[in-house]
Amino acid sequence: MEVHATVDALRAALRPRRAQGGRIALVPTMGALHEGHLSLVRVAMRRAATVTVSIFVNPLQFGAGEDFTAYPRDLERDLARLKRERVDVVFVPEADGFTRGLRTTVHVAGLTGHLEGASRPGHFDGVTTIVGKLLGAVQPDVAVFGEKDYQQLVIVRRMVRDLDLGVEIVGAPLVREPDGLAASSRNAHLSPDERRSALALSRALSAAREAWGGDAGRARGLLRSRLQKAPGIRLDYAEVVDPSTLEPLEGVVQGSARALVAAFVGRTRLIDNMGLESPGAEPSGRARD
Ligand code: AMP
Repeated sequence: MEVHATVDALRAALRPRRAQGGRIALVPTMGALHEGHLSLVRVAMRRAATVTVSIFVNPLQFGAGEDFTAYPRDLERDLARLKRERVDVVFVPEADGFTRGLRTTVHVAGLTGHLEGASRPGHFDGVTTIVGKLLGAVQPDVAVFGEKDYQQLVIVRRMVRDLDLGVEIVGAPLVREPDGLAASSRNAHLSPDERRSALALSRALSAAREAWGGDAGRARGLLRSRLQKAPGIRLDYAEVVDPSTLEPLEGVVQGSARALVAAFVGRTRLIDNMGLESPGAEPSGRARD
């Protein structure tokens, strides 16, 4: 496994692999790797001859007062895990070098102002700018993103389409802990009590999925009332949206829908989401072009 810190070294490492004709995959991450990240690596392995994983805690996607400095970091452990997965190339850009002097911002209009975008102004501009740079640095044939960050996946697909970046974007299913909590680097911040409270998110989503009969307003109401009542949780948002456009849905809908929630558990902000499938609907409430 090769580890590179500069775009030049990364490109030099990828050049001979590209020349051999094999496909190249990119899995962008912020490190503190868990099973969710590793599932993306495995999806990438099935789709490309060379798998590149980037590890970069992107300062541009954190707002003032958010947890950039406190974000968990453990590069040695991450590298050991990636080596076990037989990842070929790891790109760990130097913190300042990668963003220094940057004057370009990539902004995807429309999809970025609500849900996460409303609570975290500027967040998605930070994401798309750095994902754009990573796609430019690696020039992969395919890049894999998790449905854990569902809005991000839809936005990245749109950026790639709008800018004709010519990379296939693959969405990988959300990985959960055995008790249902969505795997997340931020779970490391939870105390045992908070960890128990955090289960309210996946439980509310499961309840909405079980009760789903196509009525988006009812599903939204169910999510909100459950999460507002849950002890130890401060609800940020609970929405039911069209899986492709992220438009909030009203009334009874025909196809599938996606429920997305965000909540604070203590000082830790968690997000989760689930597909709501209408009986007989096309599979499966997932992000598509
Ligand atoms: P992050 O390191 O949190 O920026 O995440 C890097 C990538 O891993 C993103 O595409 C995430 O959506 C994905 N990811 C994070 N957690 C999970 C999870 N529990 N299941 C699936 N993908 C995940």
